[in-house]
Amino acid sequence: MNVEVLSIGTELLLGEIVDTNSAYIARQLRDIGVNIFYLTTVGDNLERIAAAIRSSLLRADVVLTTGGLGPTVDDMTRQAVAQATGRALEFSPELLEQIAERFRQLGSQMSENNRVQAYIPAGSIPVHNRLGTAPCFIVETDGGTVISLPGVPREMKDILATTVIPYLRERMGGRGTIKALVLRTAGIGESQIDARIADLMTWTNPTVGLAAHTGQTDIRITARADTEVEADRMIAEAEQIVRERVGEYIYGTDKQPLEEVFLALLRDKGWKLAVSYTGPEGDTFAARLGQGGAVACETCNDDLAALLERLGIDPVQAAEPAALDYCQLSRAEAKRLEAETGADVVIAIVTFDAGTGITALAAHEERSRCYGFGGANSDAPFWAGTWGMSMAWQLARHAVTD
Ligand code: ATP
Repeated sequence: MNVEVLSIGTELLLGEIVDTNSAYIARQLRDIGVNIFYLTTVGDNLERIAAAIRSSLLRADVVLTTGGLGPTVDDMTRQAVAQATGRALEFSPELLEQIAERFRQLGSQMSENNRVQAYIPAGSIPVHNRLGTAPCFIVETDGGTVISLPGVPREMKDILATTVIPYLRERMGGRGTIKALVLRTAGIGESQIDARIADLMTWTNPTVGLAAHTGQTDIRITARADTEVEADRMIAEAEQIVRERVGEYIYGTDKQPLEEVFLALLRDKGWKLAVSYTGPEGDTFAARLGQGGAVACETCNDDLAALLERLGIDPVQAAEPAALDYCQLSRAEAKRLEAETGADVVIAIVTFDAGTGITALAAHEERSRCYGFGGANSDAPFWAGTWGMSMAWQLARHAVTD
């Protein structure tokens, strides 16, 4: 089934509010196996809303609108849906009673213009909005279905969960169940994963998709089937193929954080970790590793001059950060730390606006990653920390020890 989402409101076009509704709806629909090929935003203009609904209906089975259901003159979704579906607006005494009841519950006076909210396209199915006053509705036509939801996120989410999702599932044949598995990878970029599993990402059931986070990528497998057992079987088959292609980079499933898996591996091996981090937000990195007080990081700060001094490099160079080789610095610092502490695993990170160098050592094997974001990047510290752990995790996992 193809569904499109149309968010309505001039303040969305002006950037005064961010369209979080579309993203939320898209995620929920993805989870039930619905296709979404277009998200559209349109301002409070009757002709343009109606045109947008018409063109969405040419492509999709169902169009979900959010916003523009209030009682004021700029709330035009009702008229636009009526116009786009060739229906008249019809007064519903039942809806007016619901709106009046809602006002009674709120202890406030219903105003005369709230009456316009009780007009919905003729023949549509009214949908109860238990958290707000804006009535919603479903219009089923030969050319497709329009479902209109409120703009207020709390109300929209409630109706989506209680009415729209069950309605769509029923329309899809009411078939069983949708299940998903997230495989979490580390130490491999999104494009490299894509290159290895691009053919699987064209599947329709189960589906295989990627979601990139800062320094880490998830592979999501979703299956729709009549029974849970069948969905589990489809996911397991797909998982096996994915693991054959990128298994060495998969560290966990669902919401498992990398630091948890990495620290557990070190505990199992009885290995000691030493870390050095030079750059902003060093305490964030220390905190990620220090879960449960596992690791202390004395050098997690942004004191570049102190790092150069430790490495015996002329501190005058600290005045010209662009001239420094951050990769070399992280390598030298990792080796120094290994020699000084005798740790089995070392992560050394040097990250500033001019560049990032990350080196991991384990069982005397070394791996480095160096990157320039082309200037300031507020994600760089988190990214560097994740890559540092990813590389150390891989080295430690594959290390051959005596
Ligand atoms: P109501 O009658 O309850 O106001 P409505 O359907 O008329 O509902 P709008 O007036 O369009 O909704 O929007 C109400 C509020 O909901 C907006 O001021 C905004 O804060 C929020 N909102 C609307 N659309 C979106 C959206 N797409 N994403 C996030 N928030 C939204």
